Amino acid sequence: IARNPGEAEFHQAVREVFDTLGPVIDRNPQYTEAAVLERICEPERQIIFRVPWVDDAGRVQINRGFRVEFNSALGPYKGGLRFHPSVYLGIIKFLGFEQIFKNSLTGLPIGGGKGGADFDPHGRSDGEIMRFCQSFMTELANHIGPQTDVPAGDIGVGGREIGYMFGQYRRITNRYDAGVLTGKGLTWGGSLVRTEATGYGLVMFTNRMLGTRGLSFDGKTVSISGSGNVAIYATAKAQELGAQVITCSDSSGYVIDEAGIDLELLREVKEVERGRVSDYAIRRGSAATFVPGGSVWDVPVDVALPCATQNELDGDAAAALLSNGLVAVAEGANMPCTPQAILAFQKAGVLYAPGKASNAGGVATSGLEMQQNASRDSWSFDYTENKLAEIMANIHDTCAQTAEEYGHAGDYVMGANITGFIKVADAVIAQGLI
Ligand code: NDP
Repeated sequence: IARNPGEAEFHQAVREVFDTLGPVIDRNPQYTEAAVLERICEPERQIIFRVPWVDDAGRVQINRGFRVEFNSALGPYKGGLRFHPSVYLGIIKFLGFEQIFKNSLTGLPIGGGKGGADFDPHGRSDGEIMRFCQSFMTELANHIGPQTDVPAGDIGVGGREIGYMFGQYRRITNRYDAGVLTGKGLTWGGSLVRTEATGYGLVMFTNRMLGTRGLSFDGKTVSISGSGNVAIYATAKAQELGAQVITCSDSSGYVIDEAGIDLELLREVKEVERGRVSDYAIRRGSAATFVPGGSVWDVPVDVALPCATQNELDGDAAAALLSNGLVAVAEGANMPCTPQAILAFQKAGVLYAPGKASNAGGVATSGLEMQQNASRDSWSFDYTENKLAEIMANIHDTCAQTAEEYGHAGDYVMGANITGFIKVADAVIAQGLI
């Protein structure tokens, strides 16, 4: 903490992992001898840069850009870019740290990194977004590459932004390195299923977890927070499996739609019009209610899927969900549940899946996009979705087995942290003191 002052989210993420590693450290003295814990929480490289751009009124704007290349023991750094006003080094480091273990869990050869900027895309014109992305990439291009560091999207960065950044990368380098970014458009190196992957993967993981108690999504009521990429495709897959998804949200409040979210309308409002969930409620008419500023976790459901942002579900929210008969919670966002909420879920014995396991489908499919780019191939939707399903099943089963092996059956936090850690730690040691 003294070494990284003021980085509360980073401290939270490191503590959450290290709290579960005691038994592994006890069994493996070589990790202590080689100072693996100390090395693993110190990024290999951190880049902070100025992003100057001109807004539509002709004013010069200055933002701060980040790329934290955290750990490349298993492969090139891989992780998204977040554009949100709350971004600072502590957020990027928490996300990059989580990414190391998540990427390890996918079984693919990818290291961990994360980046972004304190830029707020809300209300910005298309031209402003393009100029910002071009300026951001003008510096970032010096640090990334298909064999070095492969960024993707995250909050505030979707297909449009990846397009502008890829164009600028090509212009600067005069290289068609499709494998330098993932989340690209389908006609220029993108992979089918990448857009859907995090949400789909989350629901696939959760369904398998429910299966351990003889349950499934069929007939369950589900609350989902957020209304972005992860939330929309989690809604789609949960509905496909027979669930009734009754909420969505954004930073202004939440919508409750007892008849079930109208996915086509939500996609129209969010993906085409770039509107708000309050616009969805107005268009939906009497079926839906918009609750400004409220907590989506007050709505009684069987399964809760937080898909918006870090620390959005605290101890009080967990208590509300539990008093309403919750059976499972799985994280679509990164670190959406506070430590108090996680403790409450674990004490109550409800199923709880940490994001580094349950939302790994996005980066896994990014890994599949890299494979297709490297072989200049493009796979069908069904083939890619089956690969995603296999990866999610494997992550689930490995986490469950590891937890059992360490005497904590059903503890997916322990299972995910230990499984992800051991692979990285062994690779770090094997590669010497670097
Ligand atoms: P989007 O930008 O597409 O959507 C984000 C959603 O979350 C929006 O509805 C946004 O509302 C809401 N949100 C963001 N910040 C806040 C906040 N501070 N308070 C309340 N609501 C907020 O992002 P994604 O769907 O891609 O990402 C969502 C989460 O999933 C993040 O934690 C991300 O790290 C994680 N994730 C994403 C992956 C991906 O493939 N995209 C992969 C793995 C994890 P508003 O518009 O009002 O800000």
